[in-house]
Amino acid sequence: MSRNYDVIIAGCGAAGLYAAINLPSDLKILILCKRELSLCNSSLAQGGIAGVYNSPNDNIQYHQNDTLIAGGFKNNVDAVHTLVSEAAQDIEHIIELGVDFDKNADGSYHRTLEGGHSHHRIFHHADSTGAEIASKLLAHVQTLSNVEIMENTIMCSVKQTGTGYSAFLKLPDDTYETCNCHFMILATGGIGRVYEFTTNSAIATGDGITFAYEMGAKIKNLSYVQFHPTAFNNRATRECFLISEAVRGEGAYLLNCKKERFMQNYDERLELAPRDVVSHAIVLESRKQNSTDFYLDISYKDSDFLKKRFPMIYKNLMEQGYDLTKEPVPIYPCQHYLMGGIDVDKNSETSLRNLFACGECSHTGVHGSNRLASNSLLEALVFSRHAANCIASRLSSVPEGFEEAEFSAHIGSSRIPKGYRTETRRIMQRSHFVIPDKKAAAEGFKRVKEMRDDLLNGGYLVDADYVLAKSIVTVAYIILGEVMQ
Ligand SMILES: Cc1cc2nc3c(=O)[nH]c(=O)nc-3n(C[C@H](O)[C@H](O)[C@H](O)COP(=O)(O)OP(=O)(O)OC[C@H]3O[C@@H](n4cnc5c(N)ncnc54)[C@H](O)[C@@H]3O)c2cc1C
Repeated sequence: MSRNYDVIIAGCGAAGLYAAINLPSDLKILILCKRELSLCNSSLAQGGIAGVYNSPNDNIQYHQNDTLIAGGFKNNVDAVHTLVSEAAQDIEHIIELGVDFDKNADGSYHRTLEGGHSHHRIFHHADSTGAEIASKLLAHVQTLSNVEIMENTIMCSVKQTGTGYSAFLKLPDDTYETCNCHFMILATGGIGRVYEFTTNSAIATGDGITFAYEMGAKIKNLSYVQFHPTAFNNRATRECFLISEAVRGEGAYLLNCKKERFMQNYDERLELAPRDVVSHAIVLESRKQNSTDFYLDISYKDSDFLKKRFPMIYKNLMEQGYDLTKEPVPIYPCQHYLMGGIDVDKNSETSLRNLFACGECSHTGVHGSNRLASNSLLEALVFSRHAANCIASRLSSVPEGFEEAEFSAHIGSSRIPKGYRTETRRIMQRSHFVIPDKKAAAEGFKRVKEMRDDLLNGGYLVDADYVLAKSIVTVAYIILGEVMQ
């Protein structure tokens, strides 16, 4: 069975949804979502979305400078300029779509501060901004008659054809279908599940990056991985609950195992230094103290204010047995965000014509080697709009009809060997966590390559396990390969 679309968007997070909203309404669009609609990194975003919009004391030059400083000046300056100067337009648009940002008593928008920002410019919805944005974008997309959403449908493979792209899908009833399109947008999110400990949702296995790599698209700076300094330290589960940077923005202290502040020994910006600096400081301090016990303490602040400002964090911590209004809470760094990805130009087009990438799976260059807090939801919006605009500008030159690539699900073949994902995660945690270890990376690379070769050539059944394992192993293979260079 097969179907044809003008555009297939793989991903139902902020980037995929906003691309659909900005595409011409007469295009036939399919959005793919491999799990439930709300399961994505966008829904987890807490702190907010950065942008200079109706801000008398702030300007885009300050936002640009902060982004470049956080990114270690490894950013693409043109892309950063686009990001900061177009922020107002997209923030205004999502407000029109119903996104409800917190306001001050006088009706103006409340803007908070996060590490690395010189001005209060983070729009937020309490501490669940991502869920607010994603749900409002989804509600709008669900009203669009030209857009079809396939939930619990995993894209297993993509191939380029003479007329565009073919996607091989596994449907919720375990049957397979090929869909063809003239334009494809990869908006498949991050790679957190390549690590043992991450803040990312279960969907973050780097599928889009893997498909793009397999088709020969350029991948850039995949080893630029951000480790968030303050994940709740519960090593019992893989998904580490994030304690937003905004908590430090409101004055929280970092404490070592002796419950003493230590950031003054590492950076003059103290707790509000950019994430990479704080994560490095924690790991160095942990080596110095020979302990991984660290705490975040904001208990000296007014308890009613904290409960109102951080309702979700407060609730989640209470469920874990910690009251942030009364005591320090245990934290430690864990994988959080990917700055590198599928390399794209200013139109969000990859090195392959009519293949676009946006959101966390893409590399626009805006983040340099370290993302400034709250710039990623903004990047997802601004650059998915660029992809949509580019597609709209090419409609007069689309080929007639649709070619279809051939795929095989290897029905009846054996399933993949157990343990590849766990082993890869251990390798990554050991060799590429906060301070990379080149020797461990070289050893890990050999093993990861073996696993990848087996998955590519073993003729295994193409099911969700296979797709996720191949993605995780491929992402690790690219990262470790980059580290060894
Ligand atoms: C805990 C947490 C807090 C954060 N806080 C902030 C913040 O405050 N501010 C900020 O700017 N950023 C924040 N971020 C980062 C930000 O949320 C993400 O970078 C951004 O939302 C990514 O959006 P996306 O659309 O690219 O990907 P996602 O929102 O992750 O969406 C990916 C989509 O791709 C689909 N998909 C993946 N693979 C396949 C496949 N093979 N087949 C079909 N579908 C597939 C998934 O089902 C999902 O729908 C945070 C991230 C986390 C994890």
